[in-house]
Amino acid sequence: MPGKNLSRDEAQQRASILTVDSYQVRLDVTSAPDPAAATFRSTTTIAFRCAEPGAATFLDLLAPAVRAVTLNGRSLDPATAYDGARVHVDGLAAENTLTVEADCAYSRTGEGLHRFTDPADGETYLYTHYEPADARRVFATFEQPDLKAPFDFTVTAPAAWDVRSNAPHRTVTEDGAARTWEFEPTRPISTYLTAVVAGPYHVVRDHYSRALADGTVLDIPLAALCRRSLAPYFDADEILGVTKLGLDFFHEKFDYPYPFGKYDQAFVPEYNIGAMENPGCVTFREEFVFRSKVTDAAYEARANVVLHEMAHMWFGDLVTMRWWDDLWLKESFADFMGSYGLVGAGTRYRAAWVTFANQRKAWAYRQDQFPTTHPITADIRDLEDAKLNFDGITYAKGASVLKQLVAYAGADAFFEGARRYFQRHAFGNTELADLLDILEETSGRDLKSWAAAWLQTAGVNTLTPQLTVDAEGRITELAVLQDGDVQRPHRIAVGLYDRDADGALVRTERFELDVTGARTVVTGAAGHARPALVLLNDDDLTYCKIRFDEESLETLRTGLGDIKDDLARALAWSAVWNLTRDALMPARDYVALVLRFAGQEANIGVLQSLHAQAKGAVDLYADPAWRGEGGRLLADSALRELRSAAPGSDHQLAWARFLAQTANGSEHLGLVRGLLAGTARIDGLEVDQELRWALWLTLAAAGQAGEEELAGEFAADNTASGRRQYTQCLAARPTPEAKAAAWSAVIDSEELPNALVEANIAGFGVPAHRDLTALYAAPYFKLLERVWAERTIEIAMRIVGGFFPQAQVDEATLAEADAWLSGHPDAAPALRRLVLERRDDLARALRAQACDRG
Ligand SMILES: [Zn+2]
Repeated sequence: MPGKNLSRDEAQQRASILTVDSYQVRLDVTSAPDPAAATFRSTTTIAFRCAEPGAATFLDLLAPAVRAVTLNGRSLDPATAYDGARVHVDGLAAENTLTVEADCAYSRTGEGLHRFTDPADGETYLYTHYEPADARRVFATFEQPDLKAPFDFTVTAPAAWDVRSNAPHRTVTEDGAARTWEFEPTRPISTYLTAVVAGPYHVVRDHYSRALADGTVLDIPLAALCRRSLAPYFDADEILGVTKLGLDFFHEKFDYPYPFGKYDQAFVPEYNIGAMENPGCVTFREEFVFRSKVTDAAYEARANVVLHEMAHMWFGDLVTMRWWDDLWLKESFADFMGSYGLVGAGTRYRAAWVTFANQRKAWAYRQDQFPTTHPITADIRDLEDAKLNFDGITYAKGASVLKQLVAYAGADAFFEGARRYFQRHAFGNTELADLLDILEETSGRDLKSWAAAWLQTAGVNTLTPQLTVDAEGRITELAVLQDGDVQRPHRIAVGLYDRDADGALVRTERFELDVTGARTVVTGAAGHARPALVLLNDDDLTYCKIRFDEESLETLRTGLGDIKDDLARALAWSAVWNLTRDALMPARDYVALVLRFAGQEANIGVLQSLHAQAKGAVDLYADPAWRGEGGRLLADSALRELRSAAPGSDHQLAWARFLAQTANGSEHLGLVRGLLAGTARIDGLEVDQELRWALWLTLAAAGQAGEEELAGEFAADNTASGRRQYTQCLAARPTPEAKAAAWSAVIDSEELPNALVEANIAGFGVPAHRDLTALYAAPYFKLLERVWAERTIEIAMRIVGGFFPQAQVDEATLAEADAWLSGHPDAAPALRRLVLERRDDLARALRAQACDRG
């Protein structure tokens, strides 16, 4: 479609001549409950100035039909003005009024105005999601972040509905079966941040107030929303509790009163991402409303997201990046603030930095070692680039580097910088230099070279200890070696660990230093007795991979689980996983560590990531000849730990879920069936609905769940979640017919909603079914360009990433991927990026398997 992929150059050109004064957007969604109605009426009136009268420009709009275009009272013919992606207007005056009337489409992909009908009660729900550029699916826009304006929304909806937008509503007028909601104008915001949530949502209201320094009182009405059928499970008090702690904390740290009036948090169905920071109207994936028991790691993750989105009200919404190159200016900060806030705001999630070190950083390390990695400040040529950059670099590496900046420049300088940044750039747009200038003022340090090393180059450094010891066993020198194409200044701590009287590994010495260049001596270490363990990057101040000296590695093999401190232990787990991924530790050795020590892992989030990694190690990184034995060992340990875990504990649930993921022999599968039938019991383990589906998935993948049984479970749980999991179970059956049906459901129809696309892909790709799915490698590569051209980018990304033959860890599949890449040099860069990353995963798995074979 012409002009769908807006380029940075076009956006710059448009911003150079236009200033937008206001948008008025009228939407009529009264047709939404009628499944036969595909579209809704959208009328947009934009007031804007043009610095070059007589010039031409365009609006972005993705709509099935444009009914009318009027510029300054002059009607334009939609047939010529609208090309399917843009509305072209010329002969601009110095001051312009432009009205576009269109029929826009209800979305099933989570992009634009998504429509969902609840199978539980037939109710229809709508919400919008736009980032980076889908407001144009709902109204005519100048779709770029730096053309901010106040928005005035009016929404006509079924009378029984609640309707929310960024601003509070001004009036509601009833007209028969419909009600019209007029909202207050917003403050100046970017198009991608506007929002509408509409439907018979369940609403929990609350209130936050705070005395400000100037003697006034800031009042913020709070609301938390979810679908009615989820209301029995909605723990809004917990969510609103974290919300209030966060509002206290960010007001103290940022010293800029929350600028968007009220604060709604809506948990919405079939959401593509975790959450979105629409000012005053945040949307979250509704899987954060827990229908069944989850571990505390899930509550922590949700609270982290609540604070992440709240931080965006300042970083991103009040001050916004000029273009997507500087997406990190909001995402890295919000990601950092999520963990920082969990600890600093006084929530009960005290282990947030352990989670960050162990899980969030794993995402960054993985992404940063792809051939497609990029600097934190990226080069984003167009919207397809932008869409792919919501990645482990922009979020997790960026947040890690901010954590390092706080260690390097100090927390006071960092937050004073934030305060000046908001004061100086409120309601404006910024670039890297705007932030650096301020941080240099507040820190008194030259941050240009720091930024060049950390923000403007790609890749992760590896730090390795180099230890020399004298005849008495005393350290004569401890040095830190830094590898990598780019060497960076790292503020790090180095910990020396030894056994205490109880046998626990505890820190006996800590040195803090700046590592610069290829080799840095740790001052103060000489003269100490050689410790059992040298831990670089102790306290996780910097962003790097760490290695160990031989003796320390031996200590980990025999005593990793004995490290007393949760963060230090999490760092050790992370390091041995990196060794495994880098083909420096055989997969079976990593699995042996998990088998030996996971049972004593206290941190529930770390335990759950060990489960996922151990399963991945067996499926992808182990010698195929050992895979069967590795799988049995995991399942045996899951069963053993499940039986010995404290009844009703999070650990018990985590091990039950791990058993569901690994069960293979008749003993394990028999227990799974028994738990489902109620003939087997584990004391304290409640086999609730979500766990039931996890167990059914095990049986389905093992070929031991019939279609009727699965349909029976779905009939008993005819909900959105039930439908997703039923779909996944059907696709997970080990038959050619099941795989063909899942493939076809995704590829041959554009009607399938995003949630079921994902469920089919997940079920299709059971690693153990690699013989069945091998047949799809060739069709996959043939389909790529068509999928990219025909599907929305969200769905195309899922198909390209999800159907890649990643379980086919062999040279032939690698060659197929290479052949496609070399044969399609001109394919869309974003498509090539996705394939390159999956190809790199495959090559990594081959190296790891070679290492495991020995
Ligand atoms: Zn974010």
